[in-house]
Amino acid sequence: MNIHEYQAKELLAKYGVGIPAGYPALTVEEALEGAKKLPGPLYVVKAQIHAGGRGKGTFKELGPDAKGGVRLSDSLEAVETNAREMLGNTLVTVQTGDAGKEVNRLYITDGVDIAEEYYLSLLVDRASGEVALIVSTEGGMDIEEVAHSTPEKITTITIDPAQGFMPHHGRAVAFALKLKGDLNKQAQKLAKQLYTAFVDLDCEMLEINPLVETKDEQLLVLDTKMSFDSNALYRHKDVAELRDESEEDPMEIEASKHDLAYIKLDGDIGCMVNGAGLAMATMDIIKLNGAFPANFLDVGGGANKEKVTAAFKIILSDPAVKGILVNIFGGIMRCDIIAEGIVAAAKEVDLSVPLVVRLEGTNVEKGKEILETSGLPIVSADDLGDAAKKIVGEVKQAA
Ligand code: GDP
Ligand code: MG
Repeated sequence: MNIHEYQAKELLAKYGVGIPAGYPALTVEEALEGAKKLPGPLYVVKAQIHAGGRGKGTFKELGPDAKGGVRLSDSLEAVETNAREMLGNTLVTVQTGDAGKEVNRLYITDGVDIAEEYYLSLLVDRASGEVALIVSTEGGMDIEEVAHSTPEKITTITIDPAQGFMPHHGRAVAFALKLKGDLNKQAQKLAKQLYTAFVDLDCEMLEINPLVETKDEQLLVLDTKMSFDSNALYRHKDVAELRDESEEDPMEIEASKHDLAYIKLDGDIGCMVNGAGLAMATMDIIKLNGAFPANFLDVGGGANKEKVTAAFKIILSDPAVKGILVNIFGGIMRCDIIAEGIVAAAKEVDLSVPLVVRLEGTNVEKGKEILETSGLPIVSADDLGDAAKKIVGEVKQAA
């Protein structure tokens, strides 16, 4: 799960991390109110969307010459003009895709006098099972470019979570950033605060770009992106509440309400499968037969009629879907029960595309009989290879 910049900064501030003062705003009036509480005379109006690259982004409605989604504003009037231009318009950045994202929220911050911009991030390094702390003196907007052309300017420090953060980790961060004196001490302290927040909050990623050194020698987090391990959200109610559903794929939100693991993909064959491994195998075999899956969908071990119906509705609400392949292994849940669920769901959603079903496991014969006598145009398949071949054939024929 991702959150907005202003929310991430508020969380980090609780760990003692230095951030510029700021206020979120949903309207032009709120933006002005927020700005008036800041010292000025420099303010920054920042679009709050779940995507980076806002500074270099462009607004669809304003054309290529207009300013991006992070605007320095040297007066209250400028704050007002910028807020008015951004709210309700669509910001396109390298991370949003061509469709862009509508800006419904702003963050008005105190403008900082920047001396240097650095990069710092923390993430789970799956290979070593440790937390990787990545730092670079080349902060700002293009860390991907730095990683590509001057990888030697990026330092990775790994921290064993069983041992935790040690003073030498802090010194390594300060050294990599080439900081001296008090700034060096600030960097050591900051690294520890960030590591503590990362572990405490079950983050997947915490990125600070840029971390800035101000002209009066303070280290401040100027921009941050934070994402969380969804499986750990149950123990962070306050973080879970920060979810902004307007930033997420509506079909994925609907799926999560029914406890379905759903991910939208680019193909045209909708898949409904129980078990992540079987779902992956199903996607592979569709590809092997020359077509592409429209989604990954794992209905889980305890799939019942309600879940199957919800899954059907989600698959069918995707206009790209030209056929559906159901591949269910009846273990704990018997095949006849699943077949009844499929038939009921197919009737309820007014199935408009070919449907191939492969059932295997307990009571499979009974299950197949239910499908055959349902009066619905359901094609039954014997095994995974047969099922994939049949659905790809049906879709080609319908085209
Ligand atoms: P991003 O483009 O989505 O990564 O948004 P950022 O918050 O990182 O802002 C982009 C850039 O705007 C930063 O790298 C800074 O160079 C600049 N910027 C943002 N806030 C300030 C500020 O308070 N003062 C100054 N001088 N520049 C800022
Ligand atoms: Mg940034």
